[in-house]
Amino acid sequence: LANKAFHPEATVIDVDGVKVGAGHLALIAGPCSVESTEQVLAIAKEIKASGANMLRGGAFKPRTSPYAFQGMGLDGLKILTEVKKEVGLPIVSELMSAEYLDDFNEHVDLIQIGARNMQNFDLLKHLGDIDKPILLKRGLNATYDEWVMSAEYIMASGNENVILCERGIRTFETYTRNTLDLQAIPVLRKMTHLPVVVDPSHAGGRWWLVESMAKAAVAADCDGLMIEVHNDPENALCDGAQSLKPAKFTELVDQIRAIASAT
Ligand code: PEP
Ligand code: MN
Repeated sequence: LANKAFHPEATVIDVDGVKVGAGHLALIAGPCSVESTEQVLAIAKEIKASGANMLRGGAFKPRTSPYAFQGMGLDGLKILTEVKKEVGLPIVSELMSAEYLDDFNEHVDLIQIGARNMQNFDLLKHLGDIDKPILLKRGLNATYDEWVMSAEYIMASGNENVILCERGIRTFETYTRNTLDLQAIPVLRKMTHLPVVVDPSHAGGRWWLVESMAKAAVAADCDGLMIEVHNDPENALCDGAQSLKPAKFTELVDQIRAIASAT
């Protein structure tokens, strides 16, 4: 179902009115984690003014350490819903367990499946019970075939609204958090008809790597970007080191628009 050979034209996914794919660029921005209504609302207003067309925010967080902030859970989803009412951007948030499928189906516009759950086949099969768009992140050590097969799991279960997200892979390099694989864009274009979004924030793990990699991804013809933006990165509860301040994000969007219109 994901194979381009049987479906040559590029798929466009509608995320609550925002089109993604075939020339429609998704600009997803927001904090790693929902921390409070004030925080999400302030960031949402800034990124919307900069030209972002979706708001991200994690309510359930897959943290390496069990002692690290685990997210606000369902209270976090409530905050995202309130902010959506006020600001109007579609919501992107990560689902970690099928237990919350109904809550996410009700409150989230684009359901993110994180890198660590890319091969949680039971969770993937449950996504076939709904028709909400899914943002499937690449696993930390997943090959293109494995990643596309995970998309196939969701599609074969009954939900064909899948967007792929490259977010960096594990390599021998330890200076950066992960290594952004920009080759994923042309390779996936050849393999599938699904939109491909790039997340330079989790790839590099450092805010100053985000701008150049985001521009490179747009020049390589990706269908969108997911970028972590925080109004107080020094005090962020998660991923502050890779988060852009709103003013930097604004500058980046202007540069991205120029590249996108030139390609
Ligand atoms: C995230 O987007 O906040 C996240 C945890 O991403 P990943 O699954 O790519 O690590
Ligand atoms: Mn994060």
